[in-house]
Amino acid sequence: MSDTTQISRSRQDGRAADHLRPVEFQNHIAPHASGSTLIEWGNTRVICAVMIEETVPRWMKDQGVTGGWLTAEYSMLPYSTLQRKPRDISKGKLDGRSQEIQRLIGRALRACIDLEKVGQRTLCIDCDVLQADGGTRTAAITGSYVALSLAVQKLLGSGKIPTSPLLSPVAAVSVGLVNGHPCLDLNYVEDSTADVDMNLVMNAQGGWVEIQGTGEKGTFSTEQFNQMLTLGKAGLHQLFDLQNKALNQKS
Ligand code: UDP
Repeated sequence: MSDTTQISRSRQDGRAADHLRPVEFQNHIAPHASGSTLIEWGNTRVICAVMIEETVPRWMKDQGVTGGWLTAEYSMLPYSTLQRKPRDISKGKLDGRSQEIQRLIGRALRACIDLEKVGQRTLCIDCDVLQADGGTRTAAITGSYVALSLAVQKLLGSGKIPTSPLLSPVAAVSVGLVNGHPCLDLNYVEDSTADVDMNLVMNAQGGWVEIQGTGEKGTFSTEQFNQMLTLGKAGLHQLFDLQNKALNQKS
């Protein structure tokens, strides 16, 4: 039996170790937003929408920082999980996980844009998880790039900015060690049992934006780390192609 077959059998959904779940984008899902898409990534679904405010945060004005700003919010809808997840507002505060994820989304998307070229405005990205099955943060980042590109097209079309501020597409994917094997794109069952769980954010030029990796149930070797990076890179290049197709489809 080949190694790939063994790995496929050990994956909960029968995928090969280097296979992504199917990824699709449904653009313009939120008509009032400047740019929006519903990213469907296996059974994970996230709505990503960008709205533009014609102002910048107070701290930028106070500190004399020029250009624009980009910020992100992330939330899981109460019915996105098997057990109802109460809205943060009902507890009176944002939970730590949501805060960590929305900061990651903001950092990832700020890495793909020249904020000087945005002018004195704020790009607000909202990521709302409709259905969660692992990889919601990677779906949020990958979908947000598409929504942001659509919003930038609108800014360019209205003549508000003369040139595109976008530098290079950005996408994210998870990798991990499942039953000791490096695997691409973990679903919830795999994520919750993985020995190692890692989230990779990269731009289309191959520049790493962020790597979050944790040995949940043990450590990982440099060799395993490199194997996971190789798997992740191949998956990320597929995601850049899918983003590109989504942005070139007729709406
Ligand atoms: N999850 C859940 N309820 C929660 C948090 C997470 O059901 O309050 C599930 C959900 O399927 C999520 C997965 O656990 O996608 C993995 O969560 P993690 O914090 O690793 O983030 P993600 O993989 O979604 O970026």
